[in-house]
Amino acid sequence: MKLRKQPVRTCVSCRTTDEKRDLLRVVRQPDGTVCFDAKGKANGRGAYVCAAEACIAQAERQKRLERSLRASALGADVFIALRQAASSVEPPVDVPATPVIGAEPQNRMMDKENKV
Ligand SMILES: [Zn+2]
Repeated sequence: MKLRKQPVRTCVSCRTTDEKRDLLRVVRQPDGTVCFDAKGKANGRGAYVCAAEACIAQAERQKRLERSLRASALGADVFIALRQAASSVEPPVDVPATPVIGAEPQNRMMDKENKV
């Protein structure tokens, strides 16, 4: 049984589908030109890439957006727009939660007989 809900947004570089990640949408418009879709609502075939330099760079190097969109080579302006968008996104900070250690049990030496 295959349930088709919403189209899955998958980064063309790392294949992450986590919706919580910030994915930037690139769209191939009906006239064949490809542009960064800042609002994610433009008509056309869309492809996604993480708002992360690593994924944008990989997509650029390996022409993954072109492949995904079946488009010709993307202009540099598309990647410039992607990088600008990525730099405006706050990266999620993965700080492991540190348990707050309360009052540590004190080793109280009852040195009653220790006369200095
Ligand atoms: Zn990615």
